Amino acid sequence: MKALIYDKNSNPKITLKEKQTPEILCDDDAIIKVTLSSICTSDLHIIEGFVPKAKNNIVLGHEFVGIIEKTGKNVKNYKKGDRVSVNCETFCNKCFFCKKGYINNCINGGWNLGCTINGCQAEYIRVPYANNTLTKIADNITDKNALFVGDILSSGYFGAKMCEIESTDTIAVIGSGPVGMCAMICAKILDAKTIIAIDINQNRLNIAKKEKLANYFLNPYDCNIENEIKKITTFGADKVIEAAGTKDTFELSWKIARPNGIVGIVAMYEENQTLPLPQMYGKNLTFKTGGVDAIYCKELMDLISKGKINTDFLITHEFEFKNIIKAYEFFKSNKNDCLKVMIKY
Ligand SMILES: [Zn+2]
Ligand SMILES: [Zn+2]
Repeated sequence: MKALIYDKNSNPKITLKEKQTPEILCDDDAIIKVTLSSICTSDLHIIEGFVPKAKNNIVLGHEFVGIIEKTGKNVKNYKKGDRVSVNCETFCNKCFFCKKGYINNCINGGWNLGCTINGCQAEYIRVPYANNTLTKIADNITDKNALFVGDILSSGYFGAKMCEIESTDTIAVIGSGPVGMCAMICAKILDAKTIIAIDINQNRLNIAKKEKLANYFLNPYDCNIENEIKKITTFGADKVIEAAGTKDTFELSWKIARPNGIVGIVAMYEENQTLPLPQMYGKNLTFKTGGVDAIYCKELMDLISKGKINTDFLITHEFEFKNIIKAYEFFKSNKNDCLKVMIKY
């Protein structure tokens, strides 16, 4: 089969190569024939060397859907031919962390696909812990409808959940990229009263506006965000979701939160950030951070099936799998008009 391999010692660092089709290694495994995948910013982070745990010479990719080709003996919930979305995190469901729902820190799993074990940017992939990791795609929706369930939609939901949203809340979402927009969708699902979208990219704000994802759309190039938030909320945003990941947005996240508010950080930073604790003393904020615990895939699939969530608008560009190198180049260099690329197999 063809597979996209990451090799830090070669130039370019990614190449489409012939590779042996994966086999079942454990009784909990499933082999999936990939039908659609996407490129995630985390894939770029691996190529750029920002993910220390990433193994060399692996197949990249962790955001995808497909059809089950084979299952191990212990896989009871799924069978050959099932259409499934796959959680970006494989997890055992038995360890200390899994029992608490903290699957990102599963001692036997976590984010491994396309990072420490072979990922989905290949014609076939081996998925460990298939009973926990797969979600059946509802009969009334397409593969495309389900493409983001296991990664960015879960991340948006995780960000919204971190904020313990109440029905009176104003939620500010910093970053109107794919994860930020998913966070807006999920904040609304979780009953936020008012949502404020913030981004320096007007095109992305316009898309959020067209999709009715928020009530206010603020661009720091056009206004002073802190002043605008005060006008809208009096004391500041009840909760802030930081989905952008720069020094400026990190600072903005605690500045626009009201006293006793919650700042939920889903962004992945490329460098350390600083909190000016003397200046913040008395603001009594709660910070929550981290990589997604993607434990709500079934609920999200259900919401898509019922027509309450549709993320198709995030797919702005499509490529054939044979052109995946071009897709990477395009995704990396067209941050202005490209939200997500969809790779068709
Ligand atoms: Zn990802
Ligand atoms: Zn576990």
